[in-house]
Amino acid sequence: MSLANQVALITGGARGIGKEIATLFAREGADLALFDVNAQVLEQTASELRALGRRVEGLVVDVTDASAVEAAVLKVLDKLSKIDILVNNAGITHDGLIVRMEESQWDRVLDINLKGTFLCTRAVAKAMLKARRGRIVSIASIVGLIGNPGQANYAASKAGVIGMTKSVAKELATRGITCNAIAPGFIKTEMTDRLADEAKQRLQALIPMGTLGEPRDVAQAALFLVSDAARYITGHVLVVDGGLAM
Ligand code: NAP
Repeated sequence: MSLANQVALITGGARGIGKEIATLFAREGADLALFDVNAQVLEQTASELRALGRRVEGLVVDVTDASAVEAAVLKVLDKLSKIDILVNNAGITHDGLIVRMEESQWDRVLDINLKGTFLCTRAVAKAMLKARRGRIVSIASIVGLIGNPGQANYAASKAGVIGMTKSVAKELATRGITCNAIAPGFIKTEMTDRLADEAKQRLQALIPMGTLGEPRDVAQAALFLVSDAARYITGHVLVVDGGLAM
């Protein structure tokens, strides 16, 4: 599943699952552009990836800012000449029960997870349409498929990502561009580290495979979906959850 001579743009690529995807893609030969918000962490990750011998552009971009996204995509096209792959990975949680959920909590999660995915997809799709080829993968969640108490905002954002993925897949299918989503279950990252030990144990008991997933499990799924091996797959939601959503 070599990605030699390909350029991949990964949002939220400075840490967590995004960094793991970036690292695996770099090992497979891709040059990278990373969009993230924390300049220091971003530069650290970019330099680690450069050490693998790849060209890496780390850009401080908030994916909710339409003009920043458009400008940054143009910069990537200027510096790296093309974008073959987009991975919409930037995402947050801000949990709360529905009766106590603040409007700001709802808006922020929908803005980053769903609108951010829209803005990056719109900006990159223009270049992919011209090139008549491309791979778009968005990181959704099983919570967008099965729901989760305390995560109405997050579930709505991820269900939105899945609906958007299928619509974009239909729009771009004749132009050599595939658009798919990955729905991870619970993966060991800083996002899940924040859960109380008791909650983690309860969760683990619900997972048929008995453990949380690793970021690498999601990265491998992303690599498959952007590779030539998945050339006839579009509009699909690949669940990576140890059997949790069954
Ligand atoms: P993470 O460790 O919190 O990493 C997310 C990255 O996105 C961080 O670098 C973060 O920056 C960045 N980011 C946040 N807001 C941004 C914005 N507005 N613009 C650009 N970048 C932004 O999260 P993760 O666990 O790796 O999750 C990655 C994706 O997988 C998310 O979409 C998440 O919903 C999804 N997912 C995760 C799990 C899981 O169990 N971990 C399960 C299902 C789905 P900061 O460092 O500044 O916050």
